Amino acid sequence: MWTPIAEEAERAARVLHPDGHMMPRPAHRRILTIANQKGGVGKTTSAVNLAAALTSYGMRVLVIDLDPQGNASTALGVEHTSGTPSVYECLLGEIALTDAAVPSTQSPDLICVPATIDLAGAEIELVSMVAREQRLKQALDPQVLDQLDVDYVLVDCPPSLGLLTVNALVATSEVLIPIQCEYYALEGLGQLLNNIELVRAHLNRQLHVSTILLTMYDGRTKLADQVTNEVRKHFGERVLRTVIPRSVKVSEAPGFGQTVLAYDPGSRGAMSYMDAAREMVVAQYEAESVR
Ligand code: ADP
Ligand code: MG
Repeated sequence: MWTPIAEEAERAARVLHPDGHMMPRPAHRRILTIANQKGGVGKTTSAVNLAAALTSYGMRVLVIDLDPQGNASTALGVEHTSGTPSVYECLLGEIALTDAAVPSTQSPDLICVPATIDLAGAEIELVSMVAREQRLKQALDPQVLDQLDVDYVLVDCPPSLGLLTVNALVATSEVLIPIQCEYYALEGLGQLLNNIELVRAHLNRQLHVSTILLTMYDGRTKLADQVTNEVRKHFGERVLRTVIPRSVKVSEAPGFGQTVLAYDPGSRGAMSYMDAAREMVVAQYEAESVR
């Protein structure tokens, strides 16, 4: 029988000895947008740490940094100074995704298409372009993804609902929304859901919100539980059971160009991202077995 301590030890062992808990690669590739137009809710943190966790289960993962800030690139230890081949040139159609994709410091199985500050102009430059909403979709060509041999693609969005985020929503079939367990957590969510519905209706029939991840949970506050309950009531099964705790290690890791899994694999933050990623993989197997 599992005691809480045994469970904790087992989880720590999984993080520290990754080869011991490989999971079979899924039959179908999953392509997810990580979106929430609010800044600072944990989009980037979740993108890079879920990616790292998925990699440690044996998946090959591509992170597309679609935020001109380039925070995901930083956390994955990937060069992203102006002029580096990046998602910007991919959107313009100047280079292929394979020309911009580079392995992270985390793992050769975690690859990243970085964002440079050049992307800051894209939001405006795209406006006058042909098929301006389809640019990322064109870059995410299935053959190119086959070539990269990835099981998961995670697109880290900027904190806005502009053309970059629309490009992500058009190019992917699933949306993962990180929600911070804080005041005003649900504010603005309606607007995001409306936009997703608009894109679904007009540009991408497959698009749906598949996953909600509660982040920065602080168990000492009543408010965190209120937000958690409200989100679960609204989104039901789509909310991962794992909640990401607020943890200093999680916020320190990017400063070292690392994910929290590399920076402090035994920490609560690392383990919770491992658990969240495992839930996503298991949900996928279940979906594939009934397909
Ligand atoms: P977004 O991409 O939505 O703007 P980030 O992932 O960059 O949000 O997170 C915003 C800030 O909060 C960052 O400084 C990050 O390090 C910090 N942060 C994110 N998740 C956690 C967590 N679980 N515990 C502590 N700090 C966190
Ligand atoms: Mg971000």
